[in-house]
Amino acid sequence: MSAELACPQCGGHLTLLPEIRSASCDRCEWAVEVPMKKKSERELLTERIVEFIEQRSDTFNAPYGVLSGLERLPRGGAVRTITFGCARTLDATLNVWGPLNITLRSNIGEEVFHSEDEVYQWLSKFD
Ligand SMILES: [Zn+2]
Repeated sequence: MSAELACPQCGGHLTLLPEIRSASCDRCEWAVEVPMKKKSERELLTERIVEFIEQRSDTFNAPYGVLSGLERLPRGGAVRTITFGCARTLDATLNVWGPLNITLRSNIGEEVFHSEDEVYQWLSKFD
């Protein structure tokens, strides 16, 4: 994963490498450490599930794609959400509360998963 930006010194290509938390220019000596918040286990889990769904873009082909977000809860705290679907047949949102508690709301029913694998098994039913 990388993003392309312009170097503030020479306008050259700046490559941002989140995994090593730095950015450097390919033309001059300009480089910077990128301060980045360490990702939580739940955030990483959410990213893995999003990736799993995105790899099945032939199946989960609803026009708006896969949307992940953070939903604030009225009683405080937040839950990570993943919204996806299949054109005309499935409209679903996963709520990632934690690695052992992932819930699904959809037009075809609700599910409670107690592991990441259970989520992948359910999603694989659409293959
Ligand atoms: Zn530069």
